[in-house]
Amino acid sequence: MTQDHGITRRRLIEVGGTAAAAGLVVSGAAALGPSRSPVATGQPLPDGLTLTSAPPRPRQPGSVGFAIIGLGDYALKQIMPRFAQSERAHIAALVSGNSAKLREVGEAYGVPQQARYSYDSFAGIAANPAVDAVYIVLPTGLHAEWAERAFAAGKHVMCEKPMALSSAECERMIAASQRANRKLMIAYRCHFEPYNRAAMALMRDKAVGDLRLIRTEHSYRMGPTTPAQNWRVSRALAGCGPLEDYGIYGLQAALYLSGELPDRISASAYRPANDPRFAEIYAHVATQWHFPSGAAAQIVTSYDSAGLNMVEARGTAGALVMRPATNYDGLTLALESGRDRRELTPGDSEVQFAGQLDHLASAIREGTAIITPGQMGLRDLRLIEAIYAAAQSGRTVMLNSDATIAG
Ligand code: NAD
Repeated sequence: MTQDHGITRRRLIEVGGTAAAAGLVVSGAAALGPSRSPVATGQPLPDGLTLTSAPPRPRQPGSVGFAIIGLGDYALKQIMPRFAQSERAHIAALVSGNSAKLREVGEAYGVPQQARYSYDSFAGIAANPAVDAVYIVLPTGLHAEWAERAFAAGKHVMCEKPMALSSAECERMIAASQRANRKLMIAYRCHFEPYNRAAMALMRDKAVGDLRLIRTEHSYRMGPTTPAQNWRVSRALAGCGPLEDYGIYGLQAALYLSGELPDRISASAYRPANDPRFAEIYAHVATQWHFPSGAAAQIVTSYDSAGLNMVEARGTAGALVMRPATNYDGLTLALESGRDRRELTPGDSEVQFAGQLDHLASAIREGTAIITPGQMGLRDLRLIEAIYAAAQSGRTVMLNSDATIAG
C-alpha cells in the first residue's frame, strides 16, 4: 500500500469518467444500483418479547424525559428496560406507526395516552414539555429525517448507530441540531461499556507497547430473507450492508484503540449472485487501513459467515484480545505477552445502556461535553464512504485529516 498506488477524490472521478463514478465516491453505493426513499411504517411487536411489568421507577428531580421512536427489537428488548437503571432519564413518550403496539407498550411502561404519538402526529411533541429528548431507534435510512423533525420540535436527539446512510445526511443532522441549539448524541454504547473503556485506557497507557496492528471482525450468518422482509438487507433502509450495521463496531474499535485516524484505506466488498439476501447489499466487506504512526488495521465484517465478534490490538510488547468484544454481555479482555495471559474483568457490561442515557441527560442539564457527538458519527460515515470508494475502484484512497477523501 504505497502512496504511488493511492487515489484521490478527483482522480477516482477521472478513473470512472462518469457521473456514476462520482456518485460512487459520494454515496459509496453506485455499484449496488439506485436506492428508494424510505418511509416510516408500523411494524408488529418483535418476536420473543416479554413486555416489562415493573412499575416505572420514581422520577428523580431534573430527570430527562425521552420519547422513544421505533418500537422494534433493540428499543423494546435492550433500551427501554434499561431506563430503570438510569439515574436521570425516564421514558416520557412513545412514537409508533402501529396503534395496537403503541397502546400495549404504553400501558406496560406507564406512558399516558396523550404522550403516545403516531408518525403522523409526531409534530405535536413540540407542545409536550415532558419530552426533552427523542431517542431514534428506527432503521438507519430514517435517522436523518426523524432527527431533523425532532430538532424542528425543539428536542434533543439520541440517535442509534450508524448515524445515517451518508455523510451528507450526517451534515444535515448536525446543521439541524445547531439551528435548534439542541444536543445530538450517537448511541455508541461501547464508549460506556467497562471492557471497552478499560481497553481504551490500556492502549493509552501503552500496555501493548507501540501499536502495530489492530484486527477486528464482526460477522454472523443471516438466515433466508429479502429486502421486503428485512430492512437490514434493504439498501434504502440499511445502506450497503454489514459494515454500517455490525462492522461499524470494529471500525469504531480501530479508532478508539489506536487513537488515530487512517490516512490511507484499501478495501474489498463482495456480493454473491442470485442470493435474495444480497440483492441490494454486500455480504462481506474487508478493509485495510494505514495510520500516520505506521500501524495498520484490518477490519472485516460479514452477514454470511460463521459468527465472530473479535477485536485485537498487537504491539511491540504484547497484545490486547477481546472476544467477544462488543456484544451486550459476556465480553472478555486479555493482555497477552509471550506465554503470559492476564484476563481482566473490569466491570458489568450491563451499565453501558443506562450510562449512555445518563450521559446525554448530563449534557442537557449541565451542558457537559458529549463523548460520542454527531461529529463522530459523521467521521465514521466519511470512513465508510472511503471504504466503499476503495472497494469499488480497487485502489487505495487517500484521506484528509477530517476523514474526507483527499484531492
Ligand atoms: P427492528 O426492525 O427490530 O425495529 C425497527 C423498528 O422501527 C420497527 O419495529 C418499527 O417500529 C420501526 N419502523 C418504522 N419504519 C420502519 C420501516 N420502514 N421498516 C422497518 N421498521 C420500521 O430494528 P432494530 O434491530 O431495533 O434496529 C433499530 C435501530 O437500532 C437501527 O439503527 C440499528 O442499527 C440500531 N441497533 C443498535 C444496536 C446497538 O447495540 N447499539 C443493536 C441493534 C440495533
